[in-house]
Order: sequence, then structure tokens, then C-alpha cells
Amino acid sequence: NTTQNRKQKPVLKLSNQPRCAADAISRREIIKKQRESLPIASVKERLVQEVKNHDVLIIVGETGSGKTTQLPQFLFNAGFCPNGKVIGITQPRRVAAITVAKRVAEECGVELGLKVGYSIRFDDKTSSSTRIKYMTDGLLLREALLDPYLSRYSVIIVDEAHERTVHTDVLLGLLKNVQRARLKSVIDHAVVNNKKASNGITKENEKGAERTNFLKQCQRKFPPLKLIIMSASLDARLFSEYFGGARAVHVEGRQHHVDIFYTLHAETDYVDAALITIFQIHLEEGPGDILVFLTGQEEIEGVERLVQEQIQKLPEESRKLVTVPIFSSLPSEQQMRVFMPAPAGHRKVILATNIAETSVTIPGIKYVIDPGFIKARSYDPVKGMESLIIIPTSKAQALQRSGRAGREGPGKCFRLYPESEFEKLEDSTKPEIKRCNLSNVILQLKALGVDDIIGFDFLEKPSRAAIQKSLEELFLLGALTDDCKLSDPVGHQMARLPLDPIYSKALILASQFNCLEEMLIAVSMLSVESIFYNPREKSEEAKTAKKCFASPDGDHLTLINVYHAADELLQKRRMELGIEKNEKNIKGKNEKILRKWCRENFINSRSLRHACDIHSQIRGHVEQMGLPISSCGDDTLQFRRCLAASFFLNAALKQPEGTYRALASGQVVQIHPTSVLHQSKVECVIFDELVQTSQKYIRNTTRIDYLWLTELAPHYYAMQG
Ligand code: ADP
Ligand code: MG
Repeated sequence: NTTQNRKQKPVLKLSNQPRCAADAISRREIIKKQRESLPIASVKERLVQEVKNHDVLIIVGETGSGKTTQLPQFLFNAGFCPNGKVIGITQPRRVAAITVAKRVAEECGVELGLKVGYSIRFDDKTSSSTRIKYMTDGLLLREALLDPYLSRYSVIIVDEAHERTVHTDVLLGLLKNVQRARLKSVIDHAVVNNKKASNGITKENEKGAERTNFLKQCQRKFPPLKLIIMSASLDARLFSEYFGGARAVHVEGRQHHVDIFYTLHAETDYVDAALITIFQIHLEEGPGDILVFLTGQEEIEGVERLVQEQIQKLPEESRKLVTVPIFSSLPSEQQMRVFMPAPAGHRKVILATNIAETSVTIPGIKYVIDPGFIKARSYDPVKGMESLIIIPTSKAQALQRSGRAGREGPGKCFRLYPESEFEKLEDSTKPEIKRCNLSNVILQLKALGVDDIIGFDFLEKPSRAAIQKSLEELFLLGALTDDCKLSDPVGHQMARLPLDPIYSKALILASQFNCLEEMLIAVSMLSVESIFYNPREKSEEAKTAKKCFASPDGDHLTLINVYHAADELLQKRRMELGIEKNEKNIKGKNEKILRKWCRENFINSRSLRHACDIHSQIRGHVEQMGLPISSCGDDTLQFRRCLAASFFLNAALKQPEGTYRALASGQVVQIHPTSVLHQSKVECVIFDELVQTSQKYIRNTTRIDYLWLTELAPHYYAMQG
């Protein structure tokens, strides 16, 4: 009887939680052995010495050699945290910061947030006792706003520098300045004290030796900032030259042979091709886990569902396949699942974004499936348009990806494109600073007192056109004055908020339009990927479910409706459960209720929870800034006017033939099929972002009145005529 069979079936859970004390001890032993066998372990003393000898050091090492997890521990143990100073390690990706911090806390046998912690936007797990702190590159840039000398840090490790995110690039320039400034303050201090010691008379020649001694003493008291740049790419020259010929060392990795397979012809649907390849490997190849590189959360969740459906169609004995997703907005407790071994006899399929390329190293992988694409930002400085596009990887990325299959033994990599295509790939990815909107970093640089943006010492300069366009945008948003200084208070307020300038502006304006309550929700919901969950096979049901939340005015209000509905549900539960004392219990139950509600309403519960976290964080910032928080209630006109006043650079007008024209750039665009305004007859909209796939689409749109633009943004629209 099937019911019984189903009940008896073991629940597939990935777990490496120790079940008893003996388990915990053996796990500690295993970790100790793993650490000792890492390539970096054999060069520990040498590395520590190199750091002692050089204030700037570049470390190039193959992925998985132990750079990120081990080096900070080596330095901590070698006494690089005097007087409570901190070793900071930056990562381009949130997931890497979190998972690595958790791992290192475990390796050190300490609770996360004490000696070892992490800090990322909207999530801080550090305390005053934290000495090894993992964080995103963007977060360290923000910290510099409050502490320009980064005086809490004795060492800063800029990890994954080869990724060349815009934050890493800007950070390197900033750190160069900080290092110089700190050295200067040591010397100033020495000079002042030396003068005092010699009654105000400095005798340059006589006291030379004494001065050097004194300087050394001061340096001991105010150690200079040690800067380490780590990269997986073999080309350290650029970094070395940038830091005046800084020392570079190489850490050898261990790489086994990886067989590369190509397709004979180009694939029309790489998701489909990936799916077929997963099952080919599963059914025909020996044991070993599979790593699939996909472009984003939606794609990953789609493939996850398809794999699970396909598994059900297999004979019972072939069903031993578990899927594990990993992408940046995955809740942190779920991220650690990728590191857990699959249940005995099972194969694990990891569905990852390019996070798994170099940032996190997952053990057990023998097969890599590489469709050859990434989602990237692209920016057209002439039109001032940033868009998200799916583009081919570079050769360097393809090599890194295939390398993941050969870490523990020989492996196989399946590139889902013909070999002739590989030859056509770019050697390496263009640095992000050359293909993104710079408004955000320029705003931060201005807040840091860097006024001459064009003269800033960038590792690679962005184009003058891109800088100028972003300055213009900041000016139009009211963040800069006529002479390009940060405006008071708007510019300063915008720089304080950890958001895109346009979102910050929307929040600031919303306090004047009496709809900050609503704008906080809208901005939080827009900050996560895909609140709505739209499985291919149930797309009609999903559409019907979405209609319950849909606002005829557009997506922003629709998102707010979802948030309110979820909030109401939880409020009701809280009232019902008011008598229960056990807080944890309530939380657990609420989680379950919310997940069930999300499932029934085709809402992505992961995304919704993430949005709620973001909401409470931004609310905190806004409260701190003293902006009055009030709600416009049902008067959504106020809210839409506020959107028009802040998103006026993202407005689009309907064309006679049914498409839209983005007013600022003149591009012809269409409303994205997922929008509630898709196929509506709305005259004028504002939009959140422009994405380019086969077409140019605008996503998250809201209906506005064309006349509001000239009324609320006259400095832009009156000028345009
Ligand atoms: P690198 O920075 O040189 O690429 P890492 O320090 O990230 O290398 O990784 C070193 C080793 O630690 C790898 O074998 C990796 O699999 C392991 N590791 C890292 N994080 C975790 C984790 N959260 N759980 C289990 N193993 C991990
Ligand atoms: Mg690393």
C-alpha cells in the first residue's frame, strides 16, 4: 500500500549536526585534518613573515588552497591583533562573507559573532570581541564614512580582488589613501613628541638615531595598516604596479585533471540542456556531486523544480539525487546546506550562481556543468541607462568553473557550447567599474571628502563620460550642489542610507509626501529578487493568485499589498498566540504559517523574509535620521506622486504602436510580462529597472500622470521641453 510506503520513506535531510559528544569530537578531528592538508598550511610561517615584512602584500593562490579561511587565523595567532585591533577581510559577495565566517568560527571552536564574525548590509554578526571580521567590500566602504582612518583595523585583506567589483576597485584606492594617512599621523605624532622631548628644538642631525628609535616606538603604538590583496587570477602585475611595485607571492594549489566536453552545436535553451546533462551524469557516471552554474535566483529555482519533477519520473532506485541551491539572497541558514554531504548513496546537485566560481569552495564536486553565461550589469553612459543582461562568461571564468571539478580528484566539465565558441570568449571579464552606473560610489566618495572624482587614483579609470553622467544624475536628484559638492541636508542624508541613490531619494521625499511607511515597504520589496513565484507548470494558478494582490496602479502598490497581507496574517497569529510564553515557539509556528500562506499564494517565502529583514533595517536608519514616518493610507495618489518625484529619470511614455519610450534615454522598451501593467493601456509609467534579454523590458512599473513630471521634476522636464 502506497500510503504506508510513503510514510516509511526516509526524509532526505542534509545534516552534519553532531548527534552526540563523540560525533562532535570526531568532527573536530576531521576539521583539524582538513585544515592541515590545505596547500596553504605548508607555507604558513613564510606567509606570516611576508606580512610582517611588507605593508602591502599580494597573494595569488588557486581557489580552494585555503586563503580565505586560513590566512586570517594565521595572522591572528601571530599577534596581528594588538590592543583589540581587528583583521578585516572583504568579499565581493554576501554569501561568501557569511559561509566563510561560519566555517572559521567552527574551525576556531567559537560561537559566531564573538572572536569571528561577519558584517554585511542589513546583517551584522559581530561584537566588541570580534577580531576576525568577514564583510562585503561595500560594507567596508561604508565604514570608512564613519571612521576615515579605519582605525579599528590592523590588517585589511581585500579578497577576490580578481572579481574587480566596483566596490573592490574603489576600496583599493581608498585603502591606499588610508595607509598613507595613517603613516603620516604616526610621523606627525613622533615629530610632536620629539619636539616636546627636546624642549621644542629639533636638532635634525644630532638626534637622527634617536628619532628613528622614537619613530619605531610610535609605530609600535600605532601600527601601520597592513594591506593584503588576494586573488585567484595569475595576473598580479596590475595590483602590484598600482601599489608601487608591491611584493606578490604565489600559493600553489592542487589541481587534478579535468576532462572538458563541449556540445557539437550551439544550444537554443541552455536551461533545458543543463537539465538533460544533469540526468545524463546522474544515470551514466560514477559517484560524485554535480555543480551547475546558472545566472540567478529565478533560474536556479526553476531548474530546482524541474529536477525534482524529473526525479519523480525515474525508477525508485535511481531517485537518489538531492538538489541544493546557492545564490546571494538565499537566507543564511540555508546557505550552509551546500557544504553538507548528501545522504549515503545519494548524489548532490548544486545549483549555483557564479558565487561557486571562486568565492566559495564546495567539497565533493566531480562534475561541473557550465552553460557559459553570467548575469552582468551593463551601462550605457551616453543614454545613462544601466541594465542587467545575460552575457557569455570570459575564458578565465570558464577555466575557474571547470577547475571546480578537479579539486579532490580527476573530474569532468561539460561546457554547453561548441568548442569553437570558447575561442571567441573574452580573456577576462571587463571590470565592473567600466560597465556600471557610478552614482552610488561617487556619492560615497563625495561623502568621504573626495571632491575630484576624475582625479581619484582608480586602479582603472572609468570613462569620463560615465563619471559625468553620474554626477549629472546626482545633481538632478538633488544630492549635489551647482559646484558639485554634497548638498545639505539631502546629499548627506542620501549618502548615509545604504541604498541606491534613487531609492534613498524616494525615502527622503516620501517623508514629505506623507507616505514613508509605504515607501519603506516598496524599497524593501524591490531590493530582493522575485517576490512572486511563477512555476512554468502552474503558471495559470500563479496568475490567479497574483490577481488577489494586484493593484491597477502598478507593481509598487501590488508589492505593498503582498507585504500588508503577510503582515496582517502574522498580526492575527500573534493575537491568537498571545497567551503563549515561549517566544521561540511562536516564531517557529509563525514561520510555518507564513510558509504555508506563501505556498498557497505563489509568493516566494525566501524573498519575502529577506524583504522583511531589509525593511526593519532601513526603517532603523530612517528613524535614526529623524525622518517623520507616516502613512498615506488609501490615498495612494500621494505615493504615486512621490514615485514620480523621485524616479523621474525612469519614466516611460506610451507610443502609438504600443511600445514605450524611456524619456531620459529615448530607448524603445516594453513593460515586462511579469508586471501587472503588462498589456494595459497606461499612458505613462515610472519603472524600477531596465532589463535586456531578447527585448528591452522595464520591470516594476507604476502608472503616473505625465503632467506630474513637469510639475514635480521641473528642473529636468521643463528643461527638456
Ligand atoms: P580559497 O580562499 O583559497 O579559495 P578557502 O579558504 O575558501 O580557499 O577554502 C579552503 C577549504 O575550506 C576548502 O577545502 C573548502 O572546501 C573548505 N571550506 C570553506 N568553507 C567551508 C564550509 N563552510 N564548510 C566546509 N568546508 C568549507
Ligand atoms: Mg577564497
